[in-house]
Amino acid sequence: MIGDNGIGEVIDRKFEIQARCIEHDHVYDDRHAVLMLAKDLALPNTLRFYRSECLRLGAAENQLRGIDLLIERVDRYQAANPTVCKVPDVDDGRGDHILAPNRG
Ligand SMILES: [Zn+2]
Repeated sequence: MIGDNGIGEVIDRKFEIQARCIEHDHVYDDRHAVLMLAKDLALPNTLRFYRSECLRLGAAENQLRGIDLLIERVDRYQAANPTVCKVPDVDDGRGDHILAPNRG
C-alpha cells in the first residue's frame, strides 16, 4: 500500500520507506510501514515480543517460524557487527520533525 492512509500523515517519521513485499509483490511506503534497523539494540527483544503477540493473536506456524528465523538473523548480525549496533536515539535539532506533535 502506498499513498493516503486515512490519518493525514506518515507513520514513520524517521525513514522514507519504499519497500516491496517479495512474497506478494506488494509495495509499501512510510504512510503504511515502519522500519527498524538490524543495528538497533532494542530490536531483538522487540521481535521476541512481536512473536509472542503473533502467537497470542493466533498467527499461523509459518509466520512464527519466519519470525524465529528473523530473530536468529538479527542476533547473528548484531554479534557480527558490535561496533555498528547502538541504542536507538533521536538527535536534538535534526530529529525535531520526529518529535513534533501528531496531527490527529
Ligand atoms: Zn505481501
